Amino acid sequence: MTSQTHDTASASAFAELDAYRALEAKQQPSWPDPAAVAAASAELATQPPLVFAGEADQLRERLAAAARGEAFLLQGGDCAETFEAATADKIRDRVKTLLQMAVVLTYGASMPVIKVGRMAGQFAKPRSSDTETREGVTLPAFRGDIVNGYDFTPESRTADPSRLVRGYHVSASTLNLIRAFTQGGFADLRQVHAWNQGFVSNPANQRYESLAAEIDRALKFMDACGVESAALSQTEFYVSHEALLLDYERPLVRVDSRTGDLYDTSAHMLWIGERTRQLDGAHVEFLSHVRNPIAVKLGPTSTVDDALRLIDKLDPEREPGRLTFVTRMGAGKIRDVLPGLLEGVRDAGATPLWVTDPMHGNGLTTATGYKTRRFDDVMDELLGFFEAHREAGTIPGGIHVELTGDDVTECLGGSENIDEEALATRYESLCDPRLNHRQSLELAFLVAEELKR
Ligand code: PEP
Ligand code: MN
Repeated sequence: MTSQTHDTASASAFAELDAYRALEAKQQPSWPDPAAVAAASAELATQPPLVFAGEADQLRERLAAAARGEAFLLQGGDCAETFEAATADKIRDRVKTLLQMAVVLTYGASMPVIKVGRMAGQFAKPRSSDTETREGVTLPAFRGDIVNGYDFTPESRTADPSRLVRGYHVSASTLNLIRAFTQGGFADLRQVHAWNQGFVSNPANQRYESLAAEIDRALKFMDACGVESAALSQTEFYVSHEALLLDYERPLVRVDSRTGDLYDTSAHMLWIGERTRQLDGAHVEFLSHVRNPIAVKLGPTSTVDDALRLIDKLDPEREPGRLTFVTRMGAGKIRDVLPGLLEGVRDAGATPLWVTDPMHGNGLTTATGYKTRRFDDVMDELLGFFEAHREAGTIPGGIHVELTGDDVTECLGGSENIDEEALATRYESLCDPRLNHRQSLELAFLVAEELKR
């Protein structure tokens, strides 16, 4: 193609993408100053992409393997990242937690584990109400650091478009550190395993000792054989977030110079949330025009027809790895709802990647006002996910969890037995409750036991 025809082709691709502008976009902030939003978008449009199209393609291939049952997806991170918590220590601890989980899952599944962070861009949040009232005062709801501030004052809660640009830069520095950690030796398998041995040496986690000992023997065996490869010392690590805030996503859509296709270069993988997955809505339209791997969350009211129509719109070619469904049904519903959904999609001949989010269907609020989740409910939904797939003969391809590397007290239970009283000790999430470091590892060991079956 000459550069002129290339330009014409990309102009028409952008025109198709911009069809989303005529549709309803739910969960967007009301910006007080549209000119300032346009200026922030224009500035973002001049910034370099955060990821490269080829990386997104590689992830799509990895996810295709997971959909065939030849790999397993581990996707996790904060419910809402914050600008303040984008520090070296906190980023390191989250990456470390995901790597520790991945080792255990790799052994359990005897398959490669695809590591995808909810990181480097997971800033915008859908809310159940546009406003929040405290002691008679009503202000706009907190929509995530990329939109407004958490402090309950009119100034802080006013949507501020300069946060779009800050969100980009915080994402860039987060991603830079992730790349350094995962390529620069920090992710060495033997070191990650040594951290896990620290976890199982705690008496509370004795039940996982034998699995850890098996992994230990496998590593010693490889060592004795002289296995030495980059695969032991480096790892692929991808980033993802909910593509909620279209004023942020749109200026980061770029043309891939190799193919002329559009990619949303804000992350490798983007997902559409349960609240914005309307077929005639802006989010579905928008993501239908970019080539990244895409996921859609499916809650308990999802029908086979919803799923099939999402497939037709987002993955009309039924390209392996293009579309992931992340089901979040709730422990009490998954066994009733999921098998029928899996069967309906299977019978239509479609093979999306099926992943479980065992967090978002299991929220509860304590009498003292904490939003929390029970570790046992999370595990129960996970088990229900594997059961449903066994029943339907489909492939349970991965897990999507909200977690942190810190010792927070946000979810109830786990081997430390966090109770309602303990929630007050260290509750830091500005949005949904996350598994802490130990609960995350415990979950990985339990899932590994399931995968070994
Ligand atoms: C989330 O992943 O933080 C979220 C809001 O999920 P869902 O869209 O499934 O409710
Ligand atoms: Mn959440």
